[in-house]
Amino acid sequence: MRVVMKFGGTSVGSADAIRQVAQIVAASRHEHEVVVVVSAMNAPDLRTTDTLIAAAQAAAAGDGDATAHVAPRLLALHLDAAAALTTPAECAALEPELRAMLEYLSNLSRSIAVLGELTPRALDLFSGLGERINARLIAAALRSAGLDALAVDATELIITDDRYGNAAPLMDLTRERSRQRLLPLLARGAVPVVTGFIGATQTGVPTTLGRGGSDYSCAILGAALDADAVWFWKEVDGVLTANPKVVPEARTLPQLSYGEMGEMAYYGANVLHPKTVQPLVQRRIPISIRNTFNPNHPGTVISAESGMGTVKAVTAIKDVCLITVGGPGMLGLAGVAARIFGAIARTKANILLISQASSEQSVCLAVPRADAAAAVAELRRELTDDFSAHDVEHIEERDQVVIVAVVGSGMRGTPGIAGRVFGAMGQAGINLIAIAQGSTENNISLVVAASDGDAAVRVIHRSFAL
Ligand code: ASP
Ligand code: MG
Repeated sequence: MRVVMKFGGTSVGSADAIRQVAQIVAASRHEHEVVVVVSAMNAPDLRTTDTLIAAAQAAAAGDGDATAHVAPRLLALHLDAAAALTTPAECAALEPELRAMLEYLSNLSRSIAVLGELTPRALDLFSGLGERINARLIAAALRSAGLDALAVDATELIITDDRYGNAAPLMDLTRERSRQRLLPLLARGAVPVVTGFIGATQTGVPTTLGRGGSDYSCAILGAALDADAVWFWKEVDGVLTANPKVVPEARTLPQLSYGEMGEMAYYGANVLHPKTVQPLVQRRIPISIRNTFNPNHPGTVISAESGMGTVKAVTAIKDVCLITVGGPGMLGLAGVAARIFGAIARTKANILLISQASSEQSVCLAVPRADAAAAVAELRRELTDDFSAHDVEHIEERDQVVIVAVVGSGMRGTPGIAGRVFGAMGQAGINLIAIAQGSTENNISLVVAASDGDAAVRVIHRSFAL
C-alpha cells in the first residue's frame, strides 16, 4: 500500500514526540510505501510558525534585529532535539545547514526593517522556514534510526498560484512534479520527508497554503501520488461523537463518511476542513485520523462509506448570532430573500444556518457573532424602502444562542430521528428557538439559548446512546 502520512506541529513538538514519530514511520515502512509530511515544531514554549511570523512583523515595524532573540532559540530547539535523536555525524551535518537558514532569515529581516514593509510574499519566506528546518531534522532522525530517508522541500513538488499566504495548488503541475521527484524515491524504498504548509509558484517563488496548511499539503500529495490511504497523525484518537469537555462519555467514531466529516467541520480543531481534504475526497482516497501518542488505536477512518449508525455525532457552534427579518409584507414578495442574502454577502459574513417557514412572515439566519453588527447594518440599508412600505417591520438580533447540530448520513430516509431529537429537548425542558434541516438530511440543526447549549448536546448524545 502507498501511504502518505502527516504529523502535525504537536506530534513533532519535542524530541520525545519525534522519537515516537520515527517508530511509527519505521513500523509503517515495514508494510507500506511511506511519504511523510511534517509541520513545523510546535514546542510547548516555542511555537515555531507563530514565532517566525511575529519576528517578521517586528522587522516590518522597524526592528532590524527582530530575529536576534528568536534565531538562537529556534536553533537551540532543533539542535537539542537533533542531539537526542540523531547520530553525531547527522547532528554535525545538520548544524551548519540550520545556521545558514536562520542567517538568511536575519538578513531578510534587516531588509524588511529598512523597507518598513512586509509583503505577503516576504512573509511566506519567514513563515515557511519552520517546516524546512523540521523536515531536515526529522529526515536525519529517521536515518539515525536506520531508515533510508531524505528531506524534500515542497517548493519542488507543490506548484501554486501566487496568492501569497493563502496559495492554491495547480494540481496538474503538482501531480507531474511530485510523481517525478517522489516515485523514484519510493521505488528504491526510501522515505521522503516533505515540508508541509509550503509550495512555490511556477517561477519558483515560495508560497504558503494558509495557516494550518500542512493538512492541505498532505492531501495534495496523497492525491498527486494516488495514495491508497492518507493518515493524519494528531494528538487525539480520532473524531469524537461530541466534545468530551461537554460530554464525558463521548467516544471515538470508528468510521465516518466524507459528507459526515464535512458536516462536523465546524466543531473542534480535530476535524479536517472539507476544503483541505477535497483532493482526497475527489479521488475517493480513504483518510485516517490517528493518535501519534497512542499509535495502536485504529483511529477514525473517513471514506465514501458511512458505516453503522444513523446519528453519528452532536456538535455545537458557539458565538453565533441569530438574525430575524420579519414583516407582514414579506408574504409573496419575490426577491426579498435574494436581497437579504445579497446584503449579508456584501459584508462577507459567513451564514451558518437559514430557516424560513412557509408562511413567509420571517426569515432567520445565523452568522458568527463577530460579523453580526455589520450584517445587520447592511440589511437595514438594503431594506430601507421595505421598511417605509411596512413590508418589513423588524430586524431582530439575538446573540446569546448556540447552534446544536445532529450529524449522520444514516438519518437520510430514516423516519423518526427529528421526533426523537425534539422529544428529548422537550423532556429536558429546552426551548428551541429555530430549527433547520437541509434536504440532504444528514444534519439537523437546532438553535437554543447559549445557557441551554451544553445540556442540549448532552441530552441528544444520551438519547441516541452515542
Ligand atoms: N506550521 C503551519 C502553521 O502553524 C502549518 C501547519 O502546522 O499546518 O500554521
Ligand atoms: Mg498546525
